[in-house]
Amino acid sequence: MDNNNPISNGIERFKNTLAEISLNPESFLADDNGLKLSNNHKCRNGHYMHGRIERKNQCVSFDICPLNTCPGMGACGRGCYDYVHGRTYPNVKKLQEHNFASLLINYRAGGVQKVTESIIRAIKSKKVIKVVRIHAGGDFFTKWYLEAWVNVARLMPDVTFYGYSKSFHILYAVASKINWPSNLIINLSVGVTPEGELWHGGLYDEFIPKLQDLGFNLCHVVWGLDEYPELPYNDEERMAITPSKINGGNKPDFKIGIHSYFYPAMSKAHHDAEKLDGVHHC
Ligand code: SF4
Repeated sequence: MDNNNPISNGIERFKNTLAEISLNPESFLADDNGLKLSNNHKCRNGHYMHGRIERKNQCVSFDICPLNTCPGMGACGRGCYDYVHGRTYPNVKKLQEHNFASLLINYRAGGVQKVTESIIRAIKSKKVIKVVRIHAGGDFFTKWYLEAWVNVARLMPDVTFYGYSKSFHILYAVASKINWPSNLIINLSVGVTPEGELWHGGLYDEFIPKLQDLGFNLCHVVWGLDEYPELPYNDEERMAITPSKINGGNKPDFKIGIHSYFYPAMSKAHHDAEKLDGVHHC
């Protein structure tokens, strides 16, 4: 640990916390064992997505701990907005830990089937859900976890599930073997720092071309909206939720403004657009 670097120190502490959760998940449950969904703030004010979201509370997100649930994490881990979010708001961190612990407990008790059931139960506990954002924080940390979401999407065809991921190896391992659900829209998160360093360059980028061949789209994380002028901007998550080729659609690749608390330049993209996405993952 670098004692002079508050970011790496924080990440180390967070890793230790996750190791603790894996060893004794029961002690991290907030109350019962049920998974908990959060209101997706893009819908909090009645925002709409392709006309499908007309009233608030129809869109929720499911969040787990960032960093160590992100096997494809690259340099993004140094400035993960969701990690800071959890440190800033103890209730957010508690919910992330609860959900991660609950997933582990359910998997140990009954495998993918029990995890699938627990996610569906959480969604059905809300009255009217049309869209589920998978992970404002965290990522597909194992194959069984992604398989559970595939099952959920198949069993809930009237709900749209979407998110961003850098777990490219897991996505490919699953998606290359099955008929991917049309209502499970996962965008491949890629981007660079202003210095040219791979920011979102994850550990499994070699799977990107294979996933593109399968019909997944790239989401380019940009520092300024002048980057990739040919690409549409992810206004109000419209692009993120649009079906990709693997979903039976024809969405183009798109761009989104970077979201991190540690790099002042990151706000440029948002200021360019005079709006804050806020729900961007990775
Ligand atoms: S930016 Fe995304 S992939 Fe990176 S650590 Fe945070 S949640 Fe994980």
